[in-house]
Amino acid sequence: MSVASILSGKSTNVITTTPDMSLHETAQTMAQKGIGAIIVIGASGEIVGILSERDIMRAIAESGAAALDHRVSTHMTKKVVTTDLASSAVSVMQRMTAGRFRHMPIVEDGKLAGVVSIGDLIKHRLSQLEEEQQALKEYIATA
Ligand code: AMP
Repeated sequence: MSVASILSGKSTNVITTTPDMSLHETAQTMAQKGIGAIIVIGASGEIVGILSERDIMRAIAESGAAALDHRVSTHMTKKVVTTDLASSAVSVMQRMTAGRFRHMPIVEDGKLAGVVSIGDLIKHRLSQLEEEQQALKEYIATA
């Protein structure tokens, strides 16, 4: 299964923030939208970073409530690993496991096409396994 088929079941509206936004405002956006990571976009619309709930947690652990006034740029990960629509779900899961992160931005033709989380990937993998199991049961019952 490709990333494209997983993205087709999700909203096409990708939630983003900017490097100069505060952690507080960004955390509010993430909480409202129910997302665990947000893509940070530069002045020309390019991806300049990713900020996840882990980064916000670490910032608060280090600086306390003052961290909420810090800029996103201070705590985001700048070297973002991305993939494209043709990638397989399994290869994306492998890259997430190796890199120890749970979010993967999808870039197509230089544009941000979406984000998949480890939760999206597991959900699709489970339903695929269920379908395969059902097909096997039916095959055995009729054999
Ligand atoms: P997560 O497990 O996605 O909450 O993220 C754990 C750490 O990895 C955080 O520091 C994130 O900023 C970073 N991170 C998340 N996704 C990516 C990605 N696709 N590329 C690089 N770093 C990432």
